[in-house]
Amino acid sequence: MDSEAFTFDCHVHFGQYYHLYYQPSLVVRALYRSGVRRAWVSSTTSCIAPSSFDEAQYLSRHIDEEMREALAKAGKYNMTLVPLYWAVPKRYDSLEKVDGSMYAGFKIHPKIGEWGGKIGNNLFHDICVCASENNFPILLHTGVDAADSPARFEDYFADFPDVTFVLAHCRNAREIVRLFGKYENLLGDTAFCPPDSYEQICRAGFQPRMLWGTDFPITHWCNRTSDAVTLPVLFKNYRKTLYSFNSF
Ligand SMILES: [Zn+2]
Repeated sequence: MDSEAFTFDCHVHFGQYYHLYYQPSLVVRALYRSGVRRAWVSSTTSCIAPSSFDEAQYLSRHIDEEMREALAKAGKYNMTLVPLYWAVPKRYDSLEKVDGSMYAGFKIHPKIGEWGGKIGNNLFHDICVCASENNFPILLHTGVDAADSPARFEDYFADFPDVTFVLAHCRNAREIVRLFGKYENLLGDTAFCPPDSYEQICRAGFQPRMLWGTDFPITHWCNRTSDAVTLPVLFKNYRKTLYSFNSF
């Protein structure tokens, strides 16, 4: 990782996550207190599946408001946030709002929404075109199933060599090493990346391709001992993530 490591976090969320709500301004305060000065942020409220057009519109507006709240708080701290538009097929949203005035990048989770069908394929393609034209990054969740294996999107990595895809979580290491060797436009992040995977990637010579990313505050959600979402609790969680990574 470069000298920016730990002050730049490429993988941060806020919003509704199952039964807990991570207030955008609170997340920003916890980041600031943890030493983070630049972050890519997206809202987990995007995971809620709308049951109607009206609900989809409502959710989209709500997510935009969350972003504005986070940006306002970050402005007070002189932090730089890059809002990622979390694209979900069938949320009836257009990519028009991803024009750099607020959203300046994408988050894609291949298991949230139908990415396999025509709508999903078209959306993925349109996202790549938008990212290419505007030099926006795409943060792509990766996992070990066929649905979220990074290999599934290999054609896009090849067809859009000027788009930076950040393979979140680096699952799995063997596949990541293979893809890093083939495509220079790929980076990875450390969020929930198992220590042995990180080592494997570094041994293959790809340490400079790794970004510090945490998935915070999902780190809190996974390790919580209570449902309290307060500044001290979030701060402690971020520090713990940092320490455990440093002890790899
Ligand atoms: Zn995430």
